Amino acid sequence: MTDAAIVPMEEGPSKGLDQISLLSRDDRLKGRPRLCSDCGLCDTSFSPLMPQSCVFVRNQTASIEQRLHGRNRRAGDELHFGIHRAQYAARMRRPHPKAQWTGMVTALGARLLERGRVDAVVTTGAAPGTRFQAVPVLARTPQAVLKTAGNKPCLSPNLNLIDLVREQGIKRLAFIGTGCQVHALRAVESELALDRLAVIGIPCSDNVTYPDLMYFLNQISRSPETVVHHEFMQDFRLWLRHENGKVEHVNFIDFPMDKLHGIFPSACLSCFDYPNGLSDLTIGFMGAELGWQWVLARTETGEELFDLLRPELELGELTEGGDRTRGMPRFIERLTHPPGEKRPPFLVRRLIAMLQRRRGARGLEFARAVIEMKLLRNLNYVRSKFERFEPRVVPYHVYEALDPYADIYRETFERPLRPENQDP
Ligand SMILES: Cc1cc2nc3c(=O)[nH]c(=O)nc-3n(C[C@H](O)[C@H](O)[C@H](O)COP(=O)(O)OP(=O)(O)OC[C@H]3O[C@@H](n4cnc5c(N)ncnc54)[C@H](O)[C@@H]3O)c2cc1C
Ligand code: SF4
Ligand code: SF4
Repeated sequence: MTDAAIVPMEEGPSKGLDQISLLSRDDRLKGRPRLCSDCGLCDTSFSPLMPQSCVFVRNQTASIEQRLHGRNRRAGDELHFGIHRAQYAARMRRPHPKAQWTGMVTALGARLLERGRVDAVVTTGAAPGTRFQAVPVLARTPQAVLKTAGNKPCLSPNLNLIDLVREQGIKRLAFIGTGCQVHALRAVESELALDRLAVIGIPCSDNVTYPDLMYFLNQISRSPETVVHHEFMQDFRLWLRHENGKVEHVNFIDFPMDKLHGIFPSACLSCFDYPNGLSDLTIGFMGAELGWQWVLARTETGEELFDLLRPELELGELTEGGDRTRGMPRFIERLTHPPGEKRPPFLVRRLIAMLQRRRGARGLEFARAVIEMKLLRNLNYVRSKFERFEPRVVPYHVYEALDPYADIYRETFERPLRPENQDP
């Protein structure tokens, strides 16, 4: 059976429209806070540290940045991308055929083990019999890391391996994961008694539970059961590759939002770390031209990691084009519409898709645009559903990154962007 056959077409998202819930259909998560992305920490003996470590209890970006970098973000790109020493456009000279992009992440994990720089790598594999159900893997060989190439685009409790790391006496660890996982890992780092920790971050936004991923594919694709790879590309389209090698394209504007409303967990809608700002090295794609990967080296360890992979890389140029600020007033206005609104008529959608491709933001400007939109959407989500949590879960840089839109925000929502008690 392929993954997409699991959820029938007619079923809705697993947690139901408008319901604020944890991750429904997942009984083992009962008793957790209402905001939980199932990062895995609470499955371990470290769970008593949850109140001090969970990004959804208290966001500690500012203090972790101070520890890692001795400072917080400076004005400019750091507000969106996080603190970094260098950025690159790069790709593997010999791409891994099953990789999500060119396989930089798994190649790096494999090299770290081959060269004896770490004893193990935490990575994400697929559950037996599925393509996309995420399962955390503690890889001890390069082959075991390479086997995990490709995204399993659903929530994965990667931190649930930290007890095993301790039991196996692992002292030098590489961890591949998403921003919420990395936040909790950094928060408990000193308790892990490791001699070396290398954190390879992947950007992440709008993640979903596995059943909801299947539901999504059923709504979006003409042939959901044959999808082997999919990605939300920089050309404002979802690309879905099928078993026969054919690629299906779906414009973002054509998504049936009325059917998808309710699909994202409350945690992912309250997340403010799309670019994985607390990693040593972030490897994604959205700031680079199509076909290239986007890399941010944040720490000295991050620079060492990149240098390890450099001989196997082709380096490109980071470019940018378009003006993201032109589309923001319309985006802000649309946030006032009821969620799950029906799509515009077909011809209007065609025109919008064409304009997005021809005139939309590109390269680094595309990355700034999508990060900014998610910061704003998620700030509004927290304000509408969990207002009391705002001082604890919204980190300082959100208000600074969105400051250019403070006037239009006030006009649209009749409240200030920055809370009264927040210093500018
Ligand atoms: C849900 C999700 C959303 C993403 N959204 C964006 C985005 O908007 N913009 C962007 O630039 N990049 C995004 N990425 C990252 C991007 O798609 C690639 O994973 C990244 O660029 C690495 O590509 P690669 O070819 O080097 O990876 P590969 O060598 O193919 O390795 C993929 C790595 O991803 C890890 N992984 C796979 N699934 C998961 C998971 N569910 N949780 C944690 N780790 C996982 C595996 O451990 C593996 O090591 C997202 C990734 C995920 C999982
Ligand atoms: S996100 Fe992680 S730390 Fe927070 S409640 Fe869920 S499992 Fe626990
Ligand atoms: S969107 Fe944020 S909270 Fe959700 S899995 Fe990704 S990093 Fe975690």
